[in-house]
Amino acid sequence: MTPRTAPVEPTTLRPLAFSAWRAHATAAGCLGRHYDAGGDTRLACLRFDPSPAADRLWELLLSEEDRLAADRRTGRKIVGTMKDLGTVPVLASAFPELRAFYPDGAWWTPCLMQNGDGLLATADRHGLDDSFCPVRAMFGAFVSGDRFPIPDLLTCSVGAVCDDFSAIAQRVETLGHRILWWEAPYRRAPAPGEETVKLPGGLLAPASQRDVVRAEMARLRDAFAALAGRPASDALIAEAIRHANAIRQILRDLRNAVFLARRAPLPALELLIAEMLIIHYCSDREATATILADLLAQVHGRVAADAGYGSTADVKVFWVNPTADLRCMTILEDVGARLCGTDFLFTHALDPIPELPDPLDALARTALADPMTGPARGRAARIVADMRAFGAEALVVSRIPGASHCAHEGAAIIAHVADALGVPGIEIEIPGRTESFEPTLRTRLEALVETARSRRTIQPHSTNPT
Ligand code: SF4
Repeated sequence: MTPRTAPVEPTTLRPLAFSAWRAHATAAGCLGRHYDAGGDTRLACLRFDPSPAADRLWELLLSEEDRLAADRRTGRKIVGTMKDLGTVPVLASAFPELRAFYPDGAWWTPCLMQNGDGLLATADRHGLDDSFCPVRAMFGAFVSGDRFPIPDLLTCSVGAVCDDFSAIAQRVETLGHRILWWEAPYRRAPAPGEETVKLPGGLLAPASQRDVVRAEMARLRDAFAALAGRPASDALIAEAIRHANAIRQILRDLRNAVFLARRAPLPALELLIAEMLIIHYCSDREATATILADLLAQVHGRVAADAGYGSTADVKVFWVNPTADLRCMTILEDVGARLCGTDFLFTHALDPIPELPDPLDALARTALADPMTGPARGRAARIVADMRAFGAEALVVSRIPGASHCAHEGAAIIAHVADALGVPGIEIEIPGRTESFEPTLRTRLEALVETARSRRTIQPHSTNPT
């Protein structure tokens, strides 16, 4: 897709406070209504990029529940795809009669509504307390039944899945919502002499594991065909993969342009949300493609004009795991840092899906490339490669409260990165609301930034991709 020409802007960009943003952001559909009527009161604590492309990004994010409800009214079937983050929605998008979304996305609702939604309290009452990760909000949403339309079909990957998700999804099933479980095996290294297949991202896996997952993709395809009321076709699945790859390419271009710019041409918060779109297009594939292309044009325009946020001296930080509190992204910028690389748990959704003669084989390889289905050292190796490519000078692993995958993984990743690159790293547990913890959070981030800055005098860091 050809980026549109973006307007020239002043050199130093300033994000808008909420009051200015809601007055300004009218063209994208009166964004203030999400605060006034939708109860998304956390918006008042954030800062916003003032571009029309960013306004449309926010509108797409905040209006997903309305979109799903409209789909239900017009007879489209709703598929809730749980856990795999980026593969099954591509398969579902081969059926125009279906709309796929992640019920897991409810984990940000308590943040956006500052717990005014009651989802976590509902989960608590059903025994899913804060010893589970915030994805337990999804259970609250199924109980309340008023956050998103209850899907016509629910799918969930099982096997190499965190304990939290597995337990919560099983509790969802006890509410009477039947789930089509599919097996995601733990990805292992091929044995000597074993037949292998190449995965997106460059990993190798045993061909036998690909065969298992391919058979699971075929089961999902057949279930979707039954729900859509028409047979599946390889040609349509291949077309869905091509669409996905076109959108993934725009996102990769956007990430490269943002991370390699002299100054941050897009705030960390908007970049985080743009990345999130890729896992299921926020239930609107065409709007996602257009908005990402517009953001890319905006960023290209800013880079050409040497416009950006902060300064060229900002420390380049690689961020691992999404934060339960969106406000952390703005705190990072307050302490003189900028985002230069991310791993938000779904790097397999950033990579192109191989365009093979057998599209189910291609989707199986993508599912197997999920960083959460293999050893942490595979995830750490990719983080090292990306940090090198983007010239990142420091690492933040944001630990998700209660998350079973976070128990030891963060420390292992930091150690691996320190060994390979010698850059400083910290692990911080970030709750859904950071107010009470903010002084500690700022101090720890400031210390990281100072440490990274002090290394510049010893070892100037290259920003060239390797
Ligand atoms: S524990 Fe981690 S991988 Fe599992 S649902 Fe929570 S955030 Fe996702």
